[in-house]
Amino acid sequence: MNDRNGQTEQEMRRTPGGKADLKSMLPQELGLYMASVGQPAYRGRQVFRWLSQGVADFEQMSDLPKGLRETLAQTADIGGPRIVRKQVSKRDGTVKYLFGLADGNCVETVVMQYEHGNSVCLSTQAGCHMGCAFCASFEKGDTRNLTTAEILDQVVFAGLDSGLPISNIVLMGSGEPLDNYDNVVQFLRLVSHEQGLHIGMRHISLSTCGLVPRIYDLAALKLQLTLSVSLHAPKDEIRSRIMPVNNKYPLAQLMGACRDYFETTGRRISFEYAMIAGLNDGRDCAQALCGLLRGLPCHINLIPLNHVEGSPLMPSGRETIRRFQQYLQGRGFNATVRRSLGGDIDASCGQLRRKVMAGKKD
Ligand code: SAH
Repeated sequence: MNDRNGQTEQEMRRTPGGKADLKSMLPQELGLYMASVGQPAYRGRQVFRWLSQGVADFEQMSDLPKGLRETLAQTADIGGPRIVRKQVSKRDGTVKYLFGLADGNCVETVVMQYEHGNSVCLSTQAGCHMGCAFCASFEKGDTRNLTTAEILDQVVFAGLDSGLPISNIVLMGSGEPLDNYDNVVQFLRLVSHEQGLHIGMRHISLSTCGLVPRIYDLAALKLQLTLSVSLHAPKDEIRSRIMPVNNKYPLAQLMGACRDYFETTGRRISFEYAMIAGLNDGRDCAQALCGLLRGLPCHINLIPLNHVEGSPLMPSGRETIRRFQQYLQGRGFNATVRRSLGGDIDASCGQLRRKVMAGKKD
């Protein structure tokens, strides 16, 4: 129980306010924490179960002794997020939350209803500094990583408040998940844990703009999640214009990492391709895309660009998208056009947060 490494490990998990961050801990880490306050390890499992149910007050943990509840209330922080805004789509029932964090920052979370179950789209950072030209999440300055608990809270509280049981997770909200690698991997372990929400890795997708070294790291973990790669262009010259990350990790390196991911995990990769009028939607791009992905088992997700206020980039027309899709399908690729949900409630990345945070600064 006095395992020094274990102690060091859990001491690192602290809330931004400096208290013990129990919600970011796995049952065994909670067990070590309990040992450090003189309690048996099974108390850790009890606390883990309460936290997974969204209990945000130690007083409600009825199977813990009163003295322990008081000690924990002083040394640990399990407060949940505050709902700053909530919008419900009249068209398709999509629910969008803007959650307020302890430090005044906000994050967006969206619950979408599909025939195969309810899916939640999570943010992994407050803001994002990757700088993609088409994205509303980009912000200079005050971007920060979310803690594991802040990522998990989005699933727990969006599920509780909406009353929609969550069966699928997509890490496609604001932020770059692989830029917050350690907290995101810990989140994956927590959310899939059999004593917690128990959402299987096969029901989780992680979307990245292409941080090559971290794709190799993730592959080595051999988790059975789906990797989504935001490709958006099949040529370096175009991709670098809209995604600065491409200057650091150009397509040849990115594709090398994707092939390694498939070979190591056996999981088919999903490529996201936002269709932007006159930029990446021509026959030359369709052809280049086929060349780039040749021989790699994958799925291509064509997304009509969501127009962001003030941006010169516009979505491709319906007919152009259909032609592009047919070109890919004709060459044996699995290409679908993403159905857009929540169009009436600013449900594309970062739009709501951007409006509210801009209002705060005025
Ligand atoms: N940083 C990660 C995850 C967040 S973005 C990534 O880049 O993948 C989630 C997805 O939405 C990405 O594929 C992103 O490129 C796409 N996206 C962002 N803004 C968009 C817009 N205005 N229209 C369509 N897709 C957009």
